[in-house]
Amino acid sequence: MTQTSSVVEQVKKQLFIGGTWRDAEGGATLEVDNPATGGALARVADASVADGAAALTAASEAQAEWARSAPRDRSEILRAAYELIVERTDAFAELMTLEMGKPLAEARGEVAYGSEFFRWFAEEAVRVSGRYSVAPNGATRLMTMKQPVGPTLMITPWNFPLAMGTRKIGPAIAAGCTMVVKPAAETPLSMLYLAQVLEEVGLPAGVLNVVTTSNSGGVMEPLIRDPRSRKLTFTGSTQVGRTLIEQSAQQVLRVSMELGGNAPFIVFDDADIDAAVNGAMLAKMRNIGEACTAANRFFVHADVAAEFSEKFAARMSSLTVGDGMTDGVDVGPLINAKAVDKVTNLVADATERGARVVTGGGKGDGAGYFFNPTVITGLPGDAAMAREEIFGPVAAIQTFTDEDDVIRRANDTEYGLVGYFFTRDYARVLRVSEALDYGMVGVNQGVVSNPAAPFGGVKASGFGREGGFEGIEEYLETKYVGLAL
Ligand code: NAP
Repeated sequence: MTQTSSVVEQVKKQLFIGGTWRDAEGGATLEVDNPATGGALARVADASVADGAAALTAASEAQAEWARSAPRDRSEILRAAYELIVERTDAFAELMTLEMGKPLAEARGEVAYGSEFFRWFAEEAVRVSGRYSVAPNGATRLMTMKQPVGPTLMITPWNFPLAMGTRKIGPAIAAGCTMVVKPAAETPLSMLYLAQVLEEVGLPAGVLNVVTTSNSGGVMEPLIRDPRSRKLTFTGSTQVGRTLIEQSAQQVLRVSMELGGNAPFIVFDDADIDAAVNGAMLAKMRNIGEACTAANRFFVHADVAAEFSEKFAARMSSLTVGDGMTDGVDVGPLINAKAVDKVTNLVADATERGARVVTGGGKGDGAGYFFNPTVITGLPGDAAMAREEIFGPVAAIQTFTDEDDVIRRANDTEYGLVGYFFTRDYARVLRVSEALDYGMVGVNQGVVSNPAAPFGGVKASGFGREGGFEGIEEYLETKYVGLAL
């Protein structure tokens, strides 16, 4: 039975194409579930290949005029949307909790974080500039201008249903790009509601097109291969990212990839242990552990491992698991049954290899997809969870004694999104920051995400940056004009 919620009812469940809300071809719909209950929440349009093509046509037709629009106008649209999202914080938060599972307080945090990308890029929209210089031989003049890349395809994941959208849509609007956005099938409601906000504040028709579908590969591949597309930006798993890069090679599409992570979290023996435990709680438990930035491997100096593990396990075991809509709940459900199975298997593999479960270790109660916060000690380096993203509330601790050795182990992964470490030694802060093979480093803090900072990874965690001054560059081309005197 479909559960009703006034917020869910407010969301338009159709495709948003060319400024019009319309049904999918043949009236097809797909079901959106609540992971806290396993029950259905709503049905939204299920786009066909033809619907996807119509969305790209709308984006392509709107591009030229949008590129000519005044930066100040684009800025004002983003600013107004920022204000409206903030005003509707409770509605956005409730939608995210219902469709994705994170507790309401965290969902509110995502509204604050996600909306900030619109405020930041409202400010950046009017600061795009080229340069003018004298050629070294003095004979000619060199001029560069920045222009929008053009129609952009955006594919976003379910774990941050709002913020992963705003950090692509914000800079695209600021730069003057039109777009086709495909949110994850599990969490389309937040994106549809965001489209309503942008429509309300006067974003011109065709600039933003939203396509929800149960056939993501079938709908997106023809668009990636379509010469009218000029850019693809993707946030999701490395596995899917690799496929999309291959598809993009056909027409040498400009590509940004925000992919998976396998973050090390290092606690040196001179660290403030209580601060490290606080940081560990954030780095591990933010978003129920379902974050690309989640600490995946804890390396704790042998001299402080007992104290850290004991304090960390006490905090983890004090967390309340349940429906994120309920007051006092700290940890919501995982996204689906498959996610629970994956985490269960990773824990079984670790214990079979000799690791010890200190707290948690199994599924939570109730019909939803709950998994209890878990701390594991003595993780052998060959355990599956030392290589793969856990994507759940499981923290596994290994020990070390030597700085060079722990850096080598921290870097021994195909991923390179973010690394965290705790120390009070200033020289070590610089040394280890330089040595970690990651796109981002958190020093004495368990969260690095910040709209004013360039978010992104190296190696199999992807390329391109979102946020900061760098974020808008992903949506701009540099054109050089040579001028004879
Ligand atoms: P996913 O399975 O890769 O899906 C991500 C998006 O890609 C969804 O919209 C999905 O749609 C779509 N998709 C799947 N297969 C596709 C295909 N063949 N062609 C086109 N689109 C396709 O990842 P996820 O499970 O949703 O998200 C979790 C992953 O995202 C984790 O690996 C996490 O680390 C990563 N992530 C990275 C960042 C970052 O900034 N680096 C941020 C957040 C998350 P459907 O699901 O509807 O099929």
